[in-house]
Amino acid sequence: MSVSRTTVLVIGGGPAGSTIAAMLGRSGLDVTLLERAVFPRYHIGESLLASCLSILRLSGAFDKVEAAGFRRKRGSLIHWADDEWILDWAKLVDPDAWSWQVDRAAYDEILLRNAAEQGVKVIEGATVKKIEFDGARPVRATWTATDGTPQTITCDFLADASGRNSVLAKQHLNIRRPHQSFQNIAVWGYWTGARLLPGSPEGAINVLSTPQGWFWHIPLADKYSVGYVTHRDVFAEQRPQYASLEEHYLSLVNGDERLRGVLVDAIFTAPVRAEQDYSYVADRFSGPGHVMVGDAACFLDPLLSTGVHLAQYSAMVGAAAIGSALRGEMVEDKALAFFEYTYRRAYSRMLVLVSRMYEAYNGRDEYFWQSQKLVHSDTRQPVPVRSFTDIITGLADVRESAKADLRVGTDALVNEAEFEQDGPTGGNRYMGGIDMSSIWDLWRDPMTQDDVMDGIVMVDSPVLGLQQR
Ligand SMILES: Cc1cc2nc3c(=O)[nH]c(=O)nc-3n(C[C@H](O)[C@H](O)[C@H](O)COP(=O)(O)OP(=O)(O)OC[C@H]3O[C@@H](n4cnc5c(N)ncnc54)[C@H](O)[C@@H]3O)c2cc1C
Repeated sequence: MSVSRTTVLVIGGGPAGSTIAAMLGRSGLDVTLLERAVFPRYHIGESLLASCLSILRLSGAFDKVEAAGFRRKRGSLIHWADDEWILDWAKLVDPDAWSWQVDRAAYDEILLRNAAEQGVKVIEGATVKKIEFDGARPVRATWTATDGTPQTITCDFLADASGRNSVLAKQHLNIRRPHQSFQNIAVWGYWTGARLLPGSPEGAINVLSTPQGWFWHIPLADKYSVGYVTHRDVFAEQRPQYASLEEHYLSLVNGDERLRGVLVDAIFTAPVRAEQDYSYVADRFSGPGHVMVGDAACFLDPLLSTGVHLAQYSAMVGAAAIGSALRGEMVEDKALAFFEYTYRRAYSRMLVLVSRMYEAYNGRDEYFWQSQKLVHSDTRQPVPVRSFTDIITGLADVRESAKADLRVGTDALVNEAEFEQDGPTGGNRYMGGIDMSSIWDLWRDPMTQDDVMDGIVMVDSPVLGLQQR
């Protein structure tokens, strides 16, 4: 068995792994990334948030993604219950707020190749099987190459970016918990020749609620991604009525008048894909010598298209924390506390918004006012819909990571968790009960106590890192 050594070992080359590796590689650290697949590989998660632009600039991948010709996205059009929301990012947050709708096979490959260009040693077809610890600190990983040969690598720091596999949280530490409230299934397929609903901003995602779930309708460069999300029990009950998954999916899509309209001239291309039980959270996202970034730490229902944002955002903050700790600019505990706090905060805020939409939706005005309470007072917008858009573009997270007093706004999240802990309000609960205990538990953790956070900010120059103000 061959044994090698690296300063930072990254498991997984999705958006989280490629981003954290590229940023650390750019800062001059010795980084090795092990990826199980050989890219390009298929992945769901196509609709990106505006936050990706600044993060891609910091990882060195922006120009390469820009050159790939993905469809530009400038907002969303949401039909939820009886409301229609047209969220035009340029009008609501910033004229430069846009992103892309991407083919993830191509997007993820660009990010992985970019990591290699930033000096990262990238090995594809490399599956991490086992992590060994010195106390609570991971120090060695065993992995197998495509031909099955076992290899060992030692490291000073480990970043788990293994996505839903959660190598650390699920396979080694047993600290991952499913969300009782989002026991959903998603089914989706691709169509050519479709169009967007009238009134959609350029390249917008369309989100359409139904009595028992919701559809996404996403314009990619050459086709549309059309998916349906519902509770897995609802889906299982209906399933025997159809001879195949494809027949079931087509019946759901064709049963919706709005979709029939935009797919009237469109052609469906098999196969239909499905995923279920994808919402969970780990009890903690970091520990001595390790962080969990992206889906390896937590995943939230895809209603607000937050997955890649949280993956790349946690990767950026994780890279800042690891870099500062390894360069001796900040003690590791403190740097990791900042990572833990910011990632939990971003995740919890999105969780509150998604949960509210599923469970206690009382119309868009109440919903937007609630968003107003969840942003930092310095960045709060005068009009509630703007605060909401600021959050759901991921821009509030990025801006707030550079604020010395990140605690502001967290109180509202904690109150929300306490409120839900005392019992949800009822409302439209067709997707199952809402359980906010995961948020509540996150904020009771000593790692996220307020005093740990005082005055720490993320900076991106002269090098990405953390500073004590
Ligand atoms: C139905 C559905 C719809 C979604 N829609 C959206 C959307 O519109 N927009 C959005 O932003 N997000 C969406 N998401 C979420 C998005 O797919 C994920 O959040 C995102 O891919 C997370 O990135 P990641 O890098 O953390 O993980 P991944 O992209 O999953 O990457 C993890 C990588 O780790 C590798 N790996 C796993 N185990 C090992 C191992 N043992 N050794 C080595 N490598 C390993 C895998 O091969 C993989 O390449 C959706 C998710 C679902 C389920």
